[in-house]
Amino acid sequence: MTTAKLNIVPFVSVDRMMKLVLAVGVERFLTELAGYIEDDFRRWELFDKTPRIASHSHDGVIELMPTSDGQLYGFKYVNGHPKNMRQGLQTVTAFGVLADVGSGYPMLLTEMTILTALRTAATSAVVARHLAPRGARTMAIIGNGAQSEFQAIAFKALTGVDRLRLYDIDRSASLKCARNLAGMGFDITICETGQEAVEGAEIITTVTADKQSATILTDNMVGSGVHINAVGGDCPGKTELHKDILLRSDIFVEFPPQTRIEGEIQQLESDHPVTELWQVIAGKTQGRRDAKQITLFDSVGFAIEDFSALRYVRDQLQATGLYEELDLLADPDEPRDLFGMLLRAAMQPAA
Ligand code: NAD
Repeated sequence: MTTAKLNIVPFVSVDRMMKLVLAVGVERFLTELAGYIEDDFRRWELFDKTPRIASHSHDGVIELMPTSDGQLYGFKYVNGHPKNMRQGLQTVTAFGVLADVGSGYPMLLTEMTILTALRTAATSAVVARHLAPRGARTMAIIGNGAQSEFQAIAFKALTGVDRLRLYDIDRSASLKCARNLAGMGFDITICETGQEAVEGAEIITTVTADKQSATILTDNMVGSGVHINAVGGDCPGKTELHKDILLRSDIFVEFPPQTRIEGEIQQLESDHPVTELWQVIAGKTQGRRDAKQITLFDSVGFAIEDFSALRYVRDQLQATGLYEELDLLADPDEPRDLFGMLLRAAMQPAA
């Protein structure tokens, strides 16, 4: 990157992010991002880890998600407001920062609404490589909103899923999802019910938005051997699965202290056994053990996945030039003369 001036911070706007994703190609972006996520899961023990800092309100939540590997520091600002969609606003929006631990200076400021959809999907697909039944090709996606296409493409790129069974309480969302994925090599069926969607599916992705304990999947909908990728339950009091499913499943989580507050497992006792995904990805413990096991990824989204995404974007900047230079940091000639810089600015002729 040619940012010799340290006060200039590269900024990736929504427009530049879209250009970046299209320039790299969505499948390649997801695949390469998955590699960064796997690398960071393998060195999980190095990171500062804390459950995200959440500010809950009646209609949603605003969260800060920080982490550091000792060299770099990253955080994401993200909201979750299910009712936004009815007002023409996104349910989830985000931006994030990557900084140099040595100087504390930010190195990147970027939009993360699109990036969150990409990192969530890439994480789900990374996890499915360890947990989904071998050779699985059919996935049900219940909830066909903003995240859904990203999930479908990540599973295709990383696991070989090419048959989709879509269901949403709002059929126009399923039609939108099918239209957006047309020509990408999927065989797509739009279903009338969640029950119909899960028929014949080896993987079930739930990615609905509702600020309540919903029951998107009931126990009778989940047959043996299925992998469940439960993405939408990611807040206290916001779940998607009936408790009985959890009791039949082997449950895999990102960071237990956060998932116990936010994930499907908030419905269980606080000592219910779960497996930490980093241990599976690092080869310290097994993922799927047998063909009959029900595996559940209780996804809530963890700061290290955002950190991986920030690292990936930073590494694309030099080759693509897809960023703007942001005058974000005060930079007096003499570091202690901050006030003098202000006085000199007053003497500059008005632009
Ligand atoms: P969105 O509002 O764009 O889409 C949600 C869809 O779910 C809508 O089309 C809605 O009609 C549908 N829906 C709601 N209730 C339903 C039900 N009972 N049955 C079937 N469909 C139903 O939201 P989004 O951006 O796609 O996000 C979806 C969910 O994923 C949200 O809850 C969000 O908080 C969560 N999320 C999780 C992560 C993570 O890392 N785990 C990351 C991003 C988003």
